[in-house]
Amino acid sequence: MGMDKKEKSKEKKAAGREKISFERVERQKLVTAQGEEADGVVEISLRPSRITEFIGQESLKENLNITLQAAKKRNEPLEHILLSGPPGLGKTTLAHIVAHEMKAKIMATSGPAIERAGDLIGILTNLEEGDILFIDEIHRLSKVVEEFVYPAMEDCKIDFIVDKGPYAKTIKFALKRFTLIGATTRQGLLSSPLRDRFGVSFHLDFYEPEDLMKIVERSAKLLSILVDTEAAHELARRSRGTPRIANKLLRRVRDYAQVKAYPRISVEVVKKALEGQGIDRMGLDTLDRKVLGSIIEIYGGGPVGVESLAATLNEEVDTIVDVVEPFLLKRGFLKRTSRGREATGLTYDHLGISTVSKAKHGDLFSSKK
Ligand code: ADP
Repeated sequence: MGMDKKEKSKEKKAAGREKISFERVERQKLVTAQGEEADGVVEISLRPSRITEFIGQESLKENLNITLQAAKKRNEPLEHILLSGPPGLGKTTLAHIVAHEMKAKIMATSGPAIERAGDLIGILTNLEEGDILFIDEIHRLSKVVEEFVYPAMEDCKIDFIVDKGPYAKTIKFALKRFTLIGATTRQGLLSSPLRDRFGVSFHLDFYEPEDLMKIVERSAKLLSILVDTEAAHELARRSRGTPRIANKLLRRVRDYAQVKAYPRISVEVVKKALEGQGIDRMGLDTLDRKVLGSIIEIYGGGPVGVESLAATLNEEVDTIVDVVEPFLLKRGFLKRTSRGREATGLTYDHLGISTVSKAKHGDLFSSKK
């Protein structure tokens, strides 16, 4: 069943490579491909490039701004920066903003794309003073590569060992003073030596509907879509606190309005379009409801371990932990206890499961009275 390990790692590597070349052409695309409809290209043109265009996360922006200004004043490269938070909240965007604000070149790759220490040598030795290396999913760097990164971060040097045993030789490379920006969805998985080597660390939290509404309105303007205020608000409410989802839903609603020949996007259009996409009034999607439904229907409301849950749903543990869970926890649909995940009263209410059946499920699955 599925791909074997080798194939999987090949695929990951290819994805990482694609990302590097993707970043290289990004600037060019911005100039040449404005207005094209492909999602990837639209995504690029929606990405804010200045800190003033980055909506929300006020205290993060203020602190980041201080770090940027201080480095500029001292005329020094920035300290290494760690960005953490769930996917789609703006970590990559911020890395590009930092590069733009510092007028620095940025090279982007990701943890799983760097399989061997040797993969990094070319990248690191090509960096100029003040350049930025962005490593997405940095918690997925292998141990060997991670240890190779320490001296690069700390002393701007790398020692590369060629050959093994008596013929082993160390080649030393001196690097220019670069800035590493690491992004992670799982700060807890970062080893403490790696975490300690970042001078500053910022956490991105889910966005409030008011900020998401501004993001929807900004994107609608850039894409020349007419959206009523109430409709923008409804979209914002249903976007799981995530700008990437807000932009995605906006595009889906635009498609719906276009096909059904609605001249503008009203709140009714949003509701109908999102219903078709399986997005409910709280913004939960099909997978969210499947997770919550299984906890209640199969595990009597929990607690259940994430591995069992993932196996039941035939999903990757990482998908549940990185993508699904954070928002459900944040909004109180899920509780995490030492014994596993548990549904809350809100979950039962939202899924329309009555307290009578809640009691029944409780009786059915729990050994307690
Ligand atoms: P991450 O790297 O955290 O997964 P991204 O930086 O790729 O997230 O953000 C996803 C998309 O969401 C971006 O392309 C951008 O269009 C949009 N976005 C993210 N944060 C903001 C923000 N604060 N203001 C406006 N748009 C944002």
